[in-house]
Amino acid sequence: MHKTLHIIGGGMAGSEAAWQAAQMGVPVVLHEMRPQVGTFAHRTGNLAEMVCSNSFRSDDDERNAVGLLHWEMSAANGLIMEMARRHRLPAGGALAVDRDLFAAAVTAQLLSHPLISVEYGEITDLPQDGHWIIATGPLTSGALAESIRAETGADSLAFFDAIAPIVYAESVDMSVAWMQSRYDKGETLEEQTAYMNCPMTRDQYEAFIDALLAAEKTEFHEGETAGYFDGCLPIEVMAERGRETLRFGPMKPVGLTNAHKPDEKAYAVVQLRRDNKLGTLYNMVGFQTKMKYGAQTAVFKMIPGLKNASFARLGGIHRNTFLNSPTLLDDQMRLKSRPNIRFAGQVTGVEGYVESAAMGLLAGRMAAAELLGQTLPPPPPETAMGALITHITGGAEAKTFQPMNVNFGLFPPIDAKGGRRGRKDRYKAYTDRAKAAFTAWLS
Ligand SMILES: Cc1cc2nc3c(=O)[nH]c(=O)nc-3n(C[C@H](O)[C@H](O)[C@H](O)COP(=O)(O)OP(=O)(O)OC[C@H]3O[C@@H](n4cnc5c(N)ncnc54)[C@H](O)[C@@H]3O)c2cc1C
Repeated sequence: MHKTLHIIGGGMAGSEAAWQAAQMGVPVVLHEMRPQVGTFAHRTGNLAEMVCSNSFRSDDDERNAVGLLHWEMSAANGLIMEMARRHRLPAGGALAVDRDLFAAAVTAQLLSHPLISVEYGEITDLPQDGHWIIATGPLTSGALAESIRAETGADSLAFFDAIAPIVYAESVDMSVAWMQSRYDKGETLEEQTAYMNCPMTRDQYEAFIDALLAAEKTEFHEGETAGYFDGCLPIEVMAERGRETLRFGPMKPVGLTNAHKPDEKAYAVVQLRRDNKLGTLYNMVGFQTKMKYGAQTAVFKMIPGLKNASFARLGGIHRNTFLNSPTLLDDQMRLKSRPNIRFAGQVTGVEGYVESAAMGLLAGRMAAAELLGQTLPPPPPETAMGALITHITGGAEAKTFQPMNVNFGLFPPIDAKGGRRGRKDRYKAYTDRAKAAFTAWLS
């Protein structure tokens, strides 16, 4: 008789983890608090409920990193992808689904699996012994979050994300921007040139503030803001407090000399800081925002140097419980201080239905392998799943860690030239390489 795997949270990640482990022959108990205890976003007692959009985003597995993740999950017999395809709705290149039929189908599959039992009720404490996966998502219940916090330390479990937009380094115009840390701080040349700097004249700054104030914003959900707003104000709120606020805050021009025009003093400077070890992604420092996505792209492209910027992810501020995974988790997604506990899904610092389900798939397989006396290495970083798990368990900068969507900036770079056309071909090269690596890993 095999040992049992317990999973807390029957959302995207927990449902996929339960399915994968049970398919490998390991008995699973899935603990889900709904419908007894609800959240502000969930409406039903179904497993794998989609809380907002009904889309799993792009289904293009040749030129899109999310589509590639779909492909990998299907190749690994993922339940979430199979049920999504069964209940898909016409949506162009996106994989959109009938959310109720989809969630009901996932629930039915799990409830009828001979090795899975579902226990309804909230788990309020971090388990002491046994084998566990915690997949309680962005809205982890308060009692369990407190218990996790007691184990990890207060600074290692966040209750909000405040995501600054992230730009592909290669899309920044370096004939306008330059590399320099404020006051050239740092011991090594690498540290002294750690930031990309985008300079603004007075006119450019004034036009930027006007656009920021006029841009369309999203609202917080009811009950979402409690305990927030302590040190991560959205830039548009800072601009509302006074036109000069940003120039004396995240856009201050001091300690910087424009490498292209050393005699010209910038009126304001936007700084971008390296976001991953590969150096392919840079985040816009202090630029967390509630602007709508379309507005963000339009406003940020006004920044000199970012006219042709490609965004790996746009900014946002949400209620979101997540761990500082780069410091807390090993490459098996185990809590380093309590290796009998794995984490999976959005609580590990990935973002989105697909990414969360993918991390559930890995955690389920890794936990089952361990219970069967084996070790399953993570997929190679050239794959979408491998790129994500590498990022959250060590590739990301731990100090500034914020939740991440899958994107090609997380993959080891492939060299290809030729402007826009070249980029499209390069994406195909990324996905070809990933599919070969994933197939080899699976076998
Ligand atoms: C308001 C909001 C809107 C969002 N919109 C989108 C969107 O449009 N598109 C997108 O891709 N992503 C969206 N997300 C992110 C999305 O929720 C996640 O990416 C995805 O659902 C995370 O999967 P998960 O399995 O980690 O968590 P969830 O799917 O949230 O599942 C976690 C489960 O754990 C249960 N649970 C929590 N605490 C306990 C406990 N103590 N005991 C037992 N069970 C517990 C919850 O009831 C839930 O069923 C949104 C998130 C929020 C909060």
